[in-house]
Amino acid sequence: MASLIPYYFSVGKEEEIFSHAYSNKIPLLLKGPTGTGKSRFIEYMAHKLEKKLITIACHEETSSTDLIGRYIIKGAETIWVDGPMTTAVKEGAIIYLDEIAEARPDVIVAIHSLTDHRRELFIDKLGITVKAHEDFMLVASFNPGYQRGFKELKPSTKQRFSALSFNYPETKQEIEILINETGVDAENAKKLVAIGSKIRNLTELGLTETVSTRLLVNAATLIKSGLPKRLSTHIAIVEPLTDDLQTVQSLKDLCDLMI
Ligand code: ADP
Repeated sequence: MASLIPYYFSVGKEEEIFSHAYSNKIPLLLKGPTGTGKSRFIEYMAHKLEKKLITIACHEETSSTDLIGRYIIKGAETIWVDGPMTTAVKEGAIIYLDEIAEARPDVIVAIHSLTDHRRELFIDKLGITVKAHEDFMLVASFNPGYQRGFKELKPSTKQRFSALSFNYPETKQEIEILINETGVDAENAKKLVAIGSKIRNLTELGLTETVSTRLLVNAATLIKSGLPKRLSTHIAIVEPLTDDLQTVQSLKDLCDLMI
């Protein structure tokens, strides 16, 4: 049975851009704050193009070995096991390195030859080079995090990709997303999006990351499920944003007024 197409609301020309990048074998960097639909978009595009998607959530321990592969001991034998990058390169899947800047620097080195005309992966432990399958594509995401606490990506790495920016959708689009994604009624969707925009504009709060569509989707889901509206906004929107007690209280008051 064919799996259901993931729901994704296009906010601009991203589908067209992705399709052209894919057919021209140009690696793509999805830039933008967390919760703005980057992962959903790639799931949707992989589905649309009927390609297998392999997603790696990069973190500070993610190394090239994790991606390329390693020898493991099985019984009395030592056998080689391909990592997800090697599998994607061989099978022609789309590999999505989520939050690539978090990974160890050797990951960036390992993808170099995949991001230029060579389109090949060097497996140093085997001493071989694997040519990428025709259908292989490399996609990575990166959160530019204009504020503190985020890792940067070197310009020389960024320039190996074409890049597509993601941001919070416009009001009308975001209302549509909440309704489609959660089944919440239009009135509550509107109020949640208004809360989102209001908090996004409160730059003086100095939040590391502000309200994402994901947080609004979570609040809408809880409201739809029957949790009281105010409580839903408190736990889905306010609490994940900050631990500063005063800010928490003033944001809760704001939500109470607006929902
Ligand atoms: P990111 O990868 O940018 O951190 P996600 O793709 O995980 O963000 O998006 C978080 C959630 O926000 C999704 O699960 C989805 O519910 C919702 N979302 C955000 N943007 C869109 C969009 N354009 N279309 C559909 N859902 C969206």
